Amino acid sequence: MQLLDGKALAEKIRVEIAEQTLQLKNETGITPCLAAVLVGSDPASQVYVRNKENDCAKVGMESRLHRLPDSTTTEELLELVSKLNADKSVHGILIQLPLPPSCDTLKILDAVDPKKDVDAFHPENVGLISQGRPRFLPCTPYGVQQMLVRCGIEVAGKHVVVVGRSDIVGKPMALMMLQKAAGADATVTVVHSRTQNLPEITRQADILVVAIGRARFLTAEMVKPGAVVVDVGINRLEDGTLCGDVDFDAVKNIASAISPVPGGVGPLTRAMLLLNTLTAAKQSVGL
Ligand code: NAP
Repeated sequence: MQLLDGKALAEKIRVEIAEQTLQLKNETGITPCLAAVLVGSDPASQVYVRNKENDCAKVGMESRLHRLPDSTTTEELLELVSKLNADKSVHGILIQLPLPPSCDTLKILDAVDPKKDVDAFHPENVGLISQGRPRFLPCTPYGVQQMLVRCGIEVAGKHVVVVGRSDIVGKPMALMMLQKAAGADATVTVVHSRTQNLPEITRQADILVVAIGRARFLTAEMVKPGAVVVDVGINRLEDGTLCGDVDFDAVKNIASAISPVPGGVGPLTRAMLLLNTLTAAKQSVGL
């Protein structure tokens, strides 16, 4: 069984990003800059944003944090987004989700300049992905794809079953695996909460990507022996520990490769945000 060690891979990717960031600085004088917008006091969001700031610093990128109170209105947020869109020294804009109920999330995400949309949530960027000419790839599916490619797992021609159809993970994952491109060219099935006979379908997968947010949902009986299993889920258990959507201890005995939680997809998601910020900075000067 091969352990898909996302932590080690992310470290390697960060080194590559740091080198390219330095090269960009030397050649153009540009330092990639990520602006993060944090509204309210959600504890998990505070941690995520702090991690993203630290990640930027480690690879020589700038980051700016815009902290706003829970009472922020959609209009106030739109005004900030508009300023960040116009600011030439900002290359990537990240709106930390979830936003408080007082904010119209879709309206705010749609207002982000697609050229600075490093989460790849904007409909223009989703459309470009769908057509196989991406500007940015969404960080989590991008991390999963890098995990497969860099661990030497062939995707072309394989049956990839994606469990979950969210706009952030499942749907773009399926779209990316379907492309006529390197690290893709798969036959793709997507299953979700309304799927009938879900285990029957997951058992047909050569590669399973599980992103539903249900602790240890995917059991060994739902996996074909020798399949590759990528666990995107992050679930906090009552004792405070984290676990994925896959019953790791049982599934590891029949999978040919499996990613752990923590230390799997999570660190790669963070690394891909840096890569997208670097890409945005390069694209801002036509590179
Ligand atoms: P989400 O928006 O809640 O979507 C969950 C998806 O799973 C939905 O499509 C839902 O189906 C499906 N689902 C839920 N219960 C199911 C069941 N019993 N059987 C089959 N399908 C089921 O979640 P998300 O944002 O995609 O996140 C999924 C998980 O990944 C969460 O644990 C999240 O914390 C984690 N995550 C991790 C990273 C990372 O970096 N590692 C990044 C993002 C998310 P319906 O559409 O029918 O409701």
